[in-house]
Amino acid sequence: MSGIKVEGLAKVWGDFRAVGGISFETKPAEFVALLGPSGCGKSTTLRLIAGLETATSGRIVIDGRDVSDLPSAERNLSMVFQSYALFPHLSVSENITFGLSVRRVPKAEQARRLARIVDLLGLGTLLSRRPSQLSGGQQQRVALGRALIAETPVCLLDEPLSNLDAQLRSEMRNEIRSLQRRLGITMVFVTHDQTEAMSMADRVILMRDGLIEQNGAPAELYEQPASVAVARFIGTPPMNVVDLEPGPGGATIAGADGPPLAALGDTPLQLGIRPEHITFADEGFAAVVEGSEYFGADTITACRVGAQRMLVRTPGKPSLSPGAAVKLHWPATAAHLFDRDTGRRRP
Ligand code: ATP
Repeated sequence: MSGIKVEGLAKVWGDFRAVGGISFETKPAEFVALLGPSGCGKSTTLRLIAGLETATSGRIVIDGRDVSDLPSAERNLSMVFQSYALFPHLSVSENITFGLSVRRVPKAEQARRLARIVDLLGLGTLLSRRPSQLSGGQQQRVALGRALIAETPVCLLDEPLSNLDAQLRSEMRNEIRSLQRRLGITMVFVTHDQTEAMSMADRVILMRDGLIEQNGAPAELYEQPASVAVARFIGTPPMNVVDLEPGPGGATIAGADGPPLAALGDTPLQLGIRPEHITFADEGFAAVVEGSEYFGADTITACRVGAQRMLVRTPGKPSLSPGAAVKLHWPATAAHLFDRDTGRRRP
């Protein structure tokens, strides 16, 4: 059994290119997040895989079978929508088995599958209720149940948690992930929330302007961002990215007093440093504290370095007042270099 293979997939509306010819492959039973800012084409990509939109060009292979020209119902996949799309006049159990009824799956088989889903999702006490009598989290579980009862090897989810509050989101993240592992199915999950993608996925595909910016394990995107766009999208708060300029002995942060950082060559560069990799030290870049935000476990301190701003994340309470002169230090291995013109990572 294989997962999903997408080759040169594109979707153009008029002269607008929503998906620009992307290729990627998932492993079987992998949990893949399609991540990116609003409008980057992630939902369109999912809908193309689902067969809810027709591709302008490209190929989609699911489980080794080219499904590019097949209607959605013949692609052997299920889908969970952001809106849940539950039928208001049907009970929970009727909602979950609706697709099986349409496909005339025998009643005994429907009952067997329903019992399994009810057990998996803990819906036992809710079966005769209508969607309007359920909480948001319960509706979400029913929507999930309706997809999973199809027992397809692939399940596609479009922002399924965005209508839930923060606490419930976090519970459902764990629940969906553990369901996916237990069932051994491939899940492709669309989200604009990097925390969600990073915490749930085996692989994150980060999209921007209809193209794939980076495709890799969460730790790869965090540790080796392929571009400034990835660096700025991943991490809370995201990576500091500042302009470098040539100085005596090497490149330095533009307008700031500190040790030379790298040989610049001819190309203008940007330096990326994650806030959690910076410490206040005796040696380093001269900076002035602008202010702090306290989050309980840690504090984010905004500092002015030359004409640029860097955030520093330190454990515990704030210890510096606005206006304090400090020095920022980071290990050489924490520095990322990007080409300022292309935004791409420098080896
Ligand atoms: P969001 O998180 O806001 O849903 P997204 O990354 O999922 O964003 P898509 O929904 O895939 O983005 O849309 C990508 C682009 O394609 C957007 O600019 C959108 O306006 C455009 N688009 C989507 N559907 C259509 C359509 N039917 N006709 C024309 N343009 C469309």
